[in-house]
Amino acid sequence: MVKLCFYKSDITPTCPLCDQEPETLDHLILDCASSRAIWFAMNINVANIQSSSNAVTSWIISWFSDPSITNQDYWNTWIIMVMITTWEIWKNRCNKVFRNKSPNITKSVKSINYQIQHCFQIMIHRQQQSTLNKSLQFTSTWEPPFIGQLKINIDVSYDDVDKEFGFGLIIRDYTGTCRGVRGRHCNGGLNAEHSERFGVLEAIKWVKDLNLSNLVFESDCINVVNSLKGATLDVQWENQGFVIEIRHLLNSFSNGSVNYVKRTANNVAQKPANKARTSRATFQHFEIIPADIVDLLRDA
Ligand SMILES: [Zn+2]
Repeated sequence: MVKLCFYKSDITPTCPLCDQEPETLDHLILDCASSRAIWFAMNINVANIQSSSNAVTSWIISWFSDPSITNQDYWNTWIIMVMITTWEIWKNRCNKVFRNKSPNITKSVKSINYQIQHCFQIMIHRQQQSTLNKSLQFTSTWEPPFIGQLKINIDVSYDDVDKEFGFGLIIRDYTGTCRGVRGRHCNGGLNAEHSERFGVLEAIKWVKDLNLSNLVFESDCINVVNSLKGATLDVQWENQGFVIEIRHLLNSFSNGSVNYVKRTANNVAQKPANKARTSRATFQHFEIIPADIVDLLRDA
């Protein structure tokens, strides 16, 4: 603003926040009393920043190029804090100039902390997704669906002695990104095939509740897949109800189908199925997958 005044005399060069000093970039971001109050509330020492950089511009450049930083996590956290705080100070200045709204330090600090939290959540989510993708994409013979399609792998872990079973479901897109994982423990399985059909039915109900479309389901139980593709109901009587209900639900999807895959291509659903049965647990996760589930899926 001070520079602009050389060319346009009707522009005031004074800082709009304190109305005392000329409005240079260094003053606005670091020197102004209003800005300093925000840095102080954020527990950031402005004197240290000023002693390490000649000007605000060189300080900002150092955010992207400081070679002395060895602790990347610490550096990322620091950068997020100073970037968001600087942005908030600039917004305060614009609100004063264009809307004649004086800054409120408490509100500013609240807004900064909210934005920092939001950034961290996104970073954690991206880290988990990238870990999950790396582990899922290269260690199984699973084939991705077509672009725009979602694939749901279904598997069941059945215990013939106590008749307990767990089923595992995992939704992935064409990039191999996990869009959801579910496990559920159940009692009273009649036999392995009965449990497999139960798993398929649960998978279809699950994605229907989630309002997903353009889907393909995969199961490694050939009897289940054949019975769904066949025109007749040539299955054990206790499973006929399942088949009718699954076919009915599948018809409600425009192009949903259940395909057979080899066991090795379906390992990724076997893992949560085992976990659900052995730990008698029910779980489902979408955007943020917990570390133990990521570990579980890593070698699938
Ligand atoms: Zn000022």
